[in-house]
Amino acid sequence: MARSLGRPPLVPLRYHGRMALSPELLKILVCPVDHGELDLRPDQSGLKCRTCHRVYRIEDDIPIMLADEARIEP
Ligand SMILES: [Zn+2]
Repeated sequence: MARSLGRPPLVPLRYHGRMALSPELLKILVCPVDHGELDLRPDQSGLKCRTCHRVYRIEDDIPIMLADEARIEP
């Protein structure tokens, strides 16, 4: 699997609800509304909450963890 190595390692950083995405971070990320577990979309376009089915989109490797920005999908 090809990986982008042109960037420094990402560490969990929280700033204004936006956080850099990393495998370690994905394990600890939870839905900000109900603290439900999140599943990464197969195309990595977003994170979907298992509890409320909100989908938080990912822009430039940064998940937008804001309830106001999330879409609820079936
Ligand atoms: Zn949720």
